[in-house]
Amino acid sequence: LLVASLVPTACVLWFMTEAMRNEHLAVRQKLTAVYHNQLAAIGRRLDAFWQAKQSALAAVDPGATAGEIFDHLVRSGVADSVLVYDALGRLRYPSAARAPNRDETAETAEWRSARLLEFERADYAAAASAYARIAREAADDGTAARALQAQARCLLKAGQKQAALAILTSTLADARYADATDAQGSLIVPNAQLLVLQLLGNPADAAYRTTLALLVQRLTDYRDASLSAGQRRFLMEQVRARAPDAPEFATLGAETLAADYLDVAPPPAPGSALQPSGLRGVWRLASSDQTVVALFREARIGSEMQALIDSELAIPEVAIALVPPGKEPPEPAPLLTVAAGTSLPSWQLALSLQGPDPFAVAAGRQVAVYLWTGVTVVVVFGLLAGLVTRTVGVQLRLTRLRNDLLATVSHELKTPLSSIRALVETLLEGRYRDPQQRREYLQLIAQENERLSRLMDNFLAFSRLERNQRVFEFADVHLETIVRAALDAEQERLAAPGCRVEVAIASDLPPVSGDADALTTVLINLLDNAYKYTGPDKQIGVRVSAADGHVRLEVTDNGIGLSRRAATKVFDRFYQVDQSLSRKAGGCGLGLSIVRFLVTAHGGSVTVASQSGVGSTFTVVLPVKRNHRGTKTQRRPEPR
Ligand code: ADP
Repeated sequence: LLVASLVPTACVLWFMTEAMRNEHLAVRQKLTAVYHNQLAAIGRRLDAFWQAKQSALAAVDPGATAGEIFDHLVRSGVADSVLVYDALGRLRYPSAARAPNRDETAETAEWRSARLLEFERADYAAAASAYARIAREAADDGTAARALQAQARCLLKAGQKQAALAILTSTLADARYADATDAQGSLIVPNAQLLVLQLLGNPADAAYRTTLALLVQRLTDYRDASLSAGQRRFLMEQVRARAPDAPEFATLGAETLAADYLDVAPPPAPGSALQPSGLRGVWRLASSDQTVVALFREARIGSEMQALIDSELAIPEVAIALVPPGKEPPEPAPLLTVAAGTSLPSWQLALSLQGPDPFAVAAGRQVAVYLWTGVTVVVVFGLLAGLVTRTVGVQLRLTRLRNDLLATVSHELKTPLSSIRALVETLLEGRYRDPQQRREYLQLIAQENERLSRLMDNFLAFSRLERNQRVFEFADVHLETIVRAALDAEQERLAAPGCRVEVAIASDLPPVSGDADALTTVLINLLDNAYKYTGPDKQIGVRVSAADGHVRLEVTDNGIGLSRRAATKVFDRFYQVDQSLSRKAGGCGLGLSIVRFLVTAHGGSVTVASQSGVGSTFTVVLPVKRNHRGTKTQRRPEPR
């Protein structure tokens, strides 16, 4: 049984372990495949994003100036900065500084004398007048503007601030000076406007506000190609530094980035992928016709791509990060790393798990199923094993019982049969002294015969009980009748000399529901024992009383009594306290077990109270009311 239940259990456990391991592997493979697909989908999405970006670079208005292209792409957020080239690869924006003017001061006498007054004699008033004259008489607007600029400078040096401001704000404001440049090629008017802001210094001043508005308007007007990118950037920075109330310039960062980019003298940008720009942390992407190169800061790429990745991410328990070349993926260590796509060469997509390990979670669920299956199978095997053990145990006990019965029967029959045979032979051979002795022999034969009958009765009763063949006929029974019947049956024995029987039956006894024959058998057995296990002076009492819905039947004797231990065992089959005594008395150890069986079948109980050497009282308690209807009720106590 142990092997039969342990082997399948071990097999189930082994199967479970294998299944759990396989489950772990299968889940890992399944999830890894899912993650790979997700990464590939995100890679494709990133490619599409950069291709769209590239198309946006090319989709510029063909009639727009390079500055407008720059302004448009930067303002619309397509890139952090932009460089615009012509078809031959020459830079159009950021536009180069204008060519410096020829040095008029060295060429004309007026200029020379004015400069002499200003720089060597420091006669600023005279110098201012000289410059004013040059401005008045100048043949072209450029020269006039340069002279006015010098005049304003001298007036300032001479301490005539108002006069200088008048020139800077009114005279130079004339549209014809708009494109005039100084000796270095810088536009004069915006420089003059910056100077005005410095001189006025008060944002509340109307002139200050007008000048600031004009200057800001000029700096943000990218249609105007006359302003070089360098001067624009310089003026934007100066305005931001000196005029705290000036607006932010949306393109200043882009201008600075483009200038920095040009400073590192980058090689041309062929190819359609994002590539290093030469500036740390800045990447570039060229339009397919190479006329526009967009610059992207790594932080911007990171945040834009991350937003894209997060919007595409379909699996909740993972995080995917875009890792720039040469950088380490963020913690926790990624589970999978793949190339980010053709648009982002050398960039990587790193997938890491968030929260509890989904492999463990998914496998854990399956493992729980296996575990419960395993536990159930083991429990079922255990129960089956228990059941089989029980059944086999019962069968073994029954077999032992039968063997015991067979041995007892053969043994118990042997003694009376051999004594009968010996007596019969003696009588047949006429070996007796007189008729008196012959009568004694015949009486002995009758006694042995009677003993045999009683034995057989008990064996048969027991056998029927064991085979569940006893059928009770339940009816209302008066115990008085039962007592009479039993005393009649035992009459011959109890009438023996030295034997006194006292019977006390209470009046108005309620009837019990029972089988009269069975109850008579009970009392006969008890009377029989009372007779057998008492000495020559036998005092036997039979008492019947009623109380608490029960009828009580007591059989007392003044016999050898029972020890406390024996009293607990007398109702067991084949139990005999003193075998030789019992045998002599003609018992086989079945009487009390039959009594208990019958009494239990009637819903009652039987107990013994005894004292060694003093006597015993066997008490049968039967319920008065029983709801037995059928006549075929059987009860079968557990075999012991
Ligand atoms: P048996 O056929 O041997 O009498 P029983 O089942 O009737 O079998 O009784 C079992 C044993 O209990 C007896 O062998 C005897 O030792 C003991 N016994 C039964 N009745 C009495 C009694 N009234 N007084 C003393 N011993 C008793």
